[in-house]
Amino acid sequence: MSDAKHAPDTLAAQGLGWIAPIHRDLAPPIHPSSTFERGADGSFPGGRVYARDQSPAYDQAEALLAALEGAHQALLFPSGMAAATTLLQALEPGSRVLAPRAMYWALRNWMQELAARGQIALDFYDNADTAALRARIATQPPRLLWVETPANPTWEITDLTAACAAARAHGSLVAVDSTVPTPVLTRPLELGADFVMHSATKYLNGHSDVVAGALACRADSPVWTRVRQNRALGGAILGPFEAWLLLRGMRTLALRVRHASASALAIARTFERDPRLAAVLYPGLPGHPGHATAAAQMQGGFGAMLSIRVAAGEQAALAATGRLQVFKRATSLGSVESLAEHRFSVEGPGSQCPPDLIRLSVGIEAVEDLLADLDQALG
Ligand SMILES: *Cc1c(COP(=O)(O)O)cnc(C)c1O
Repeated sequence: MSDAKHAPDTLAAQGLGWIAPIHRDLAPPIHPSSTFERGADGSFPGGRVYARDQSPAYDQAEALLAALEGAHQALLFPSGMAAATTLLQALEPGSRVLAPRAMYWALRNWMQELAARGQIALDFYDNADTAALRARIATQPPRLLWVETPANPTWEITDLTAACAAARAHGSLVAVDSTVPTPVLTRPLELGADFVMHSATKYLNGHSDVVAGALACRADSPVWTRVRQNRALGGAILGPFEAWLLLRGMRTLALRVRHASASALAIARTFERDPRLAAVLYPGLPGHPGHATAAAQMQGGFGAMLSIRVAAGEQAALAATGRLQVFKRATSLGSVESLAEHRFSVEGPGSQCPPDLIRLSVGIEAVEDLLADLDQALG
């Protein structure tokens, strides 16, 4: 099946249509072998030497993700954090990274730690202020602009086209954490980004049973060469079974993301004017400040993540979270089951998250059950 001829949904559903040799399996075999036989003449007839940097277990999932992102190449990592860290470590030591104020909490903290260790220099920008971001890039171009849109946990939108154009004009690279929109809704490389990062633990896998990450690049480059070296020789690699599960999860990616996004929109609309809430944060609502930009750069939905702010404050938000029955109280996102989390108490001291905020990851359950659950939990 040729990539150019078929829609992403078709490519994902059929895992690019690859058929395994010998038995013509539609579901691929798992490749646990760590090593590969050498021929009598010293050659490697299978084309592989050792699984740390040449595991066939990754081939199909990486090829599929590359096709979905419109990427030159994709690489799997043992977690989203490993993927992001590998990219940061592929920059020249001390490179300046310009990161958004609102972003995945653990990665923001980790960037600050890397900066404290002198591995990178770190500055922050306001996610949604395009004019200020342009000015920042022009006055002091970073080596790497980091973007997350919609951004955890308040779902601010960064204008990808504008950010990438500004970065390109001043020689900065752009990496986009696209965990939340997934390639189903946004393809950052086509909008000018150089790299896309995923926590494949989330939507790409979708079933809360794999921790994995991925990077994809628009074109080969010295930084990408170092990314590949860092994985091959740094040795942080995903297990073959996890790669297999990830590919299986990705086959239903489009279906899951579209269904969950539609449910998230229905939930946001239902509770938008609910007096028990101080705010519903969701880029699919016309009142969201990033709505027009989101509509331009997200196709077919605004994602399945939203947050609600409980009018009666932090204790009421905690109590409402405690009453949820269909939504599971758990961290993470992007799974088939809906998850709810009081972010402030999870993030702890230094959290920038409003204390009255509950983050919702909408799954694929019947939306009526999710609506009823939220309604009873809010009391
Ligand atoms: C979970 C997550 C990460 C980190 O990924 P892990 O797989 O948990 O290491 C990074 N960015 C976003 C947006 C995430 O949701």
